Amino acid sequence: MLKTFGLGDILQGSLMKGDDLIGGLTAVIKGRGIASGIVSGIGAVTEAHIGYFNAGTKKYEEKVFQENLEIVSLRGNISYRDAEVFPHIHAVLSRRDFSAIGGHLFPGTHVYAFEFEIIPFEGKPFVRGFDEDTGLFLWKE
Ligand code: ZN
Repeated sequence: MLKTFGLGDILQGSLMKGDDLIGGLTAVIKGRGIASGIVSGIGAVTEAHIGYFNAGTKKYEEKVFQENLEIVSLRGNISYRDAEVFPHIHAVLSRRDFSAIGGHLFPGTHVYAFEFEIIPFEGKPFVRGFDEDTGLFLWKE
């Protein structure tokens, strides 16, 4: 699938310590009426809920990390799922020993500090639908 988009005004901002990272980003996106675009960010979290999609079982395996982690790189996209705007976010997080973990970021991830950019797209957004083949909600229209 391929689409072309125009660009809206780029947003740069931050969330507060204690905020739910996915919830906070979603609130900004909904508040600005953004339907599609790119998200990026850096910062730190006090707790992370990370998913690994197991292609064998076609289910996410979610793991909770209750520790201070640096957000080395967070990126994602914005589209629609179930008639609602849906930010799909992945992140690489680092530990005190400088090792890294990463994956799909779920709600429940709590901000220590978070600085982000959102590049909104102008045009008809992608809409996710369930894909039997992969077990994922992929862009269908
Ligand atoms: Zn994902």
